Amino acid sequence: MADNNFNPNDYKWLLNYEETYNQYEDIPEGWREAFGEMLIKDIDEVVKRDNIEVGGDFGFRVMEIKEKWGELRMYFFNSTDEIERIVTNYSMLSKNICIGCGKPDVPWTTGYIIPVCEKCFRKWWNSDYRKAIADQGSYMMPDTYVTRRTNKDGIKETIHDVSDLTKKIRARWKTRKEEIE
Ligand SMILES: [Zn+2]
Repeated sequence: MADNNFNPNDYKWLLNYEETYNQYEDIPEGWREAFGEMLIKDIDEVVKRDNIEVGGDFGFRVMEIKEKWGELRMYFFNSTDEIERIVTNYSMLSKNICIGCGKPDVPWTTGYIIPVCEKCFRKWWNSDYRKAIADQGSYMMPDTYVTRRTNKDGIKETIHDVSDLTKKIRARWKTRKEEIE
């Protein structure tokens, strides 16, 4: 779905330190298509609501965005726990979203670990997709994930519900699919 209202340049915290470059483009294309706009808007909602200072030496801004081990990584200066949680939610789902086109519920390749759909895989490597993908069990984006933190009482597990997000990402893909296929 083309959204003419979204412009990464409206978000000052996406600029690098010298303010010469907007780092939004560092999100791989498939993930940008799948959830880039949602992610940026979710973070910005917190920034605006909490009146978080942006940019400069002490303000909140993106340090780096990249793909690592098949998932989205976003590093910040002066972020908050809530912002980190938002990014982790999207990172967890990115593991099963094609890095090329944004198709949800896809497996990883072995070797160089990235989530990729069969169509993008064939376009890039032109080899046997089934042999190249990792045996992960389910390729579906999860509805929940668990984080573990060790403290003096032992290990504390927290379950994070991301089912609303998986629904939104699948719905967006369904709409886009009709446009690109
Ligand atoms: Zn793809």
